[in-house]
Amino acid sequence: MPESVLSFIGLGSNLDEPAEQVRSALVQLQALPRCRLVSHSNLYQSKPMGPADQPDYINAVAALETSLESFELLAELQAIETEHGRVRKECWGARTLDLDVLIYDELVIDTPQLTIPHPGLPQRAFVLYPLQELVAADFIVPGMGKLRDLLDECPFEGLSIYD
Ligand code: ADP
Ligand code: MG
Repeated sequence: MPESVLSFIGLGSNLDEPAEQVRSALVQLQALPRCRLVSHSNLYQSKPMGPADQPDYINAVAALETSLESFELLAELQAIETEHGRVRKECWGARTLDLDVLIYDELVIDTPQLTIPHPGLPQRAFVLYPLQELVAADFIVPGMGKLRDLLDECPFEGLSIYD
């Protein structure tokens, strides 16, 4: 396998048995070519961003070792979203499965198709708290600084561990 890097993937769902959507997506991440699922966080329940008239979300973060290039990884994630019957409608609307590349090694890129680290990361408790479970205390988010500082600015609000 060519040299591999560590990437963190954000998973979210608020339709059709969200916890099952997230659990089965974790299994699919495990089965991706040129990838190894290293670990994943607990599942969290969170209040929706954007339109409030939609069900709560289930979220998790996965650590994936991969030799896929960032855009190849995005394409694999979008294929999994499609398999979960995701239909792209309104922005931030309800969805069966959302898979985001949160972090890809030390890469910092900003293109219309792919922005890494994911730009929503500093505002999203449902990403930052699960991510914290998977990394060392002094972890630095490329271009965004210490995870600990991001957590200090982002209250654990509307969030709970789901089991
Ligand atoms: P969101 O996750 O913000 O709710 P979507 O899942 O609907 O939005 O994604 C919309 C587009 O975001 C995708 O077509 C994809 O090309 C783009 N995108 C940009 N950066 C990323 C990223 N880091 N991870 C996943 N998708 C991304
Ligand atoms: Mg997305």
